[in-house]
Amino acid sequence: MSKQVLTILGATGSIGVSTLDVVGRHPDRYEVFALSAHRQVEKLAALCLQFRPKIAVVAGEPEAQKLRSLLGGAPEIEVLHGAVALEQIAAAPEVTTVVAAIVGGAGLGSSLAAARTGKRVLLANKEALVMAGDIFIKTLRDSGGVLLPIDSEHNAVFQSLPVGFDYGLKHCSVRKVILTASGGPFRNTPREALRNVTPDQACAHPNWAMGRKISVDSATMMNKGLEVIEASWIFGVGAERIDVLIHPESTIHSMVQYEDGAVLAELGNPDMRTPIAHVLAYPERIASGVGSLDLVKTGKLTFEAPDLERFPCLKLAYDALRAGKNASVTLNAANEEAVAAFLDGKLSFDRIPDVVAECLDCVPGMQLNSLEDILAADQIARQAAHRVLDTCKDPA
Ligand code: NDP
Ligand code: MG
Repeated sequence: MSKQVLTILGATGSIGVSTLDVVGRHPDRYEVFALSAHRQVEKLAALCLQFRPKIAVVAGEPEAQKLRSLLGGAPEIEVLHGAVALEQIAAAPEVTTVVAAIVGGAGLGSSLAAARTGKRVLLANKEALVMAGDIFIKTLRDSGGVLLPIDSEHNAVFQSLPVGFDYGLKHCSVRKVILTASGGPFRNTPREALRNVTPDQACAHPNWAMGRKISVDSATMMNKGLEVIEASWIFGVGAERIDVLIHPESTIHSMVQYEDGAVLAELGNPDMRTPIAHVLAYPERIASGVGSLDLVKTGKLTFEAPDLERFPCLKLAYDALRAGKNASVTLNAANEEAVAAFLDGKLSFDRIPDVVAECLDCVPGMQLNSLEDILAADQIARQAAHRVLDTCKDPA
């Protein structure tokens, strides 16, 4: 068995650390070529000393200098910085497998670089697909690369599909893809109380430990909206064939309903090391460190329909997917800016969907034919979001 050679983009994040936990259990299978972080230099230094990559990438020159000094005892590790370096480690010829786990639109360039160079792309960075799903899938087809989804819902769907499925369910007799959602920390919170929730409350997810941006997205259910769009690209299905089902226990990670009425699902403890181990080893199976699911202890599995009035972000995302053109780019960019403002104490939680909705209303529709078009649409949407945010500076 030849070793997989890995670049892990976003190594210091929640997905990055879980990935390295699984990788560390299988030194015979995986070799780490490169790791990246943004500003958490000390954390990256510790990971570098443990996994000994050839290259480490950080945000800018000051971070690079600090990392070099922290790695004084390991001068063989080359330290680079910036977006071009991220693309370089994603595209390096030695690398077989890229874990794309940077958060937000910042991950698009490096995720695409991995796709362009025919890698196995283990994708957590859902925002890249929301922004550029069409280009991403075409790029992979042209390069012979493979996309394997880390996002637990998409990974569960992938596991529930016939082996050999190829970015489209046309031939699989699939009626529906059913994405489950925990409903987040505010599933039963009175709507009036949402105005005063703090970033720490929003980030306290009942079942999953994740980075702060995706935790806020889970609390607004924008995360599920982004996942609907992500699913439409990965599985080649329209909005009408993707359902969302609230399932507070997060035991069923998603399901596929077939034409004959059969429903296949993947179940397990809510721990991202399961989908990460699945895509790392696919089509084999390896130990991930996750314990056995105890269904007796779980007792009941419950389900309910999502409340689109309480969670308008989910509806906004469905609408954006149906609208096509630049709507998903605008949705994603406006959401990133609104979530950043909320985490910064500059916007109340309940106004996040308002900011996104206003941006979708005010940014004109435009055709996107290239990556340049997408990046331009992203900038236009972020500027619109800043204008909207300037009009609602009251977190109180
Ligand atoms: P985290 O915030 O925990 O980690 C983000 C990583 O990206 C960190 O390594 C961070 O570096 C790096 N980073 C942040 N900003 C930039 C930037 N501008 N340029 C380059 N690198 C940057 O996020 P998560 O691990 O939670 O999520 C990562 C992705 O995976 C997201 O797209 C998320 O939606 C998706 N995902 C996450 C799940 C989870 O359970 N966490 C589940 C399913 C999907 P630094 O640490 O230095 O800031
Ligand atoms: Mg998910």
